[in-house]
Amino acid sequence: MLEIEGLNAWYGASHVLHGLSLAVEPGEIVALVGRNGAGKTTTIRSIMGLMPKATGAVRFAGTELLALPAHARFRLGLAYVPEERRIVPGLSVRENLQLGLLAAKGAIDERAAIDEIARTFPRLKERLDQQGVTLSGGEQQMLAIARAMIAGPRMILLDEPSEGIMPVLVEEMGALFRRLRDEGVTLLLVEQNVEWALRLADRAVIIDQGEIVHHSTAAALLADKAIQERYCAV
Ligand code: ATP
Repeated sequence: MLEIEGLNAWYGASHVLHGLSLAVEPGEIVALVGRNGAGKTTTIRSIMGLMPKATGAVRFAGTELLALPAHARFRLGLAYVPEERRIVPGLSVRENLQLGLLAAKGAIDERAAIDEIARTFPRLKERLDQQGVTLSGGEQQMLAIARAMIAGPRMILLDEPSEGIMPVLVEEMGALFRRLRDEGVTLLLVEQNVEWALRLADRAVIIDQGEIVHHSTAAALLADKAIQERYCAV
């Protein structure tokens, strides 16, 4: 589904990713872990077309992405939930969800799409007309995920979705990600909550100083405390 080969990325003169290669198969959850500053967010931003400079090859469902602007990547069925959530001030929950449909390809029945999201997220259903930014942190994260899901993407990139969320919602989120995976959606999950991510994921990849230094099944990494200590300790 997603193949990255020899990806390099820069912020100005600062060279952050150094020839990173990574593949994600259709319908799997891959956890991308590593310590602060390792390059996890930069990897996701490169896939989405949000880096000032990136070279190498990034293919999604056979299409080369690096030459495409960010909005064209969304239209291919790639969705992104950024770490900072970006709930738009001045817009209701419903209007924030509608933004997720704007970038979509083709006509989507807006009412049916919002009804479907409301079934999946009862907490949002009760608050559709409330201002998005007045939701709790956990509810805002759910809204950011719902907005990414609403147009039916083939793959979702999530940057630290569990951060700052109470445990009961983190568990709900885990169940939702498993359900999405079982429905055939592919997920790339960047996480600091390594244990939670590894219990959820099928495969795990560790990034360190802008390069992939380990890949294995998630279960194998979960069992290998030495590698976790070496590369994931905060
Ligand atoms: P974290 O968990 O702390 O977000 P990360 O693995 O996601 O870490 P990145 O955010 O990808 O790491 O950062 C990789 C490197 O790029 C770091 O050295 C960071 O300081 C640098 N960096 C990130 N954003 C910028 C920016 N806007 N301008 C310059 N350098 C940046």
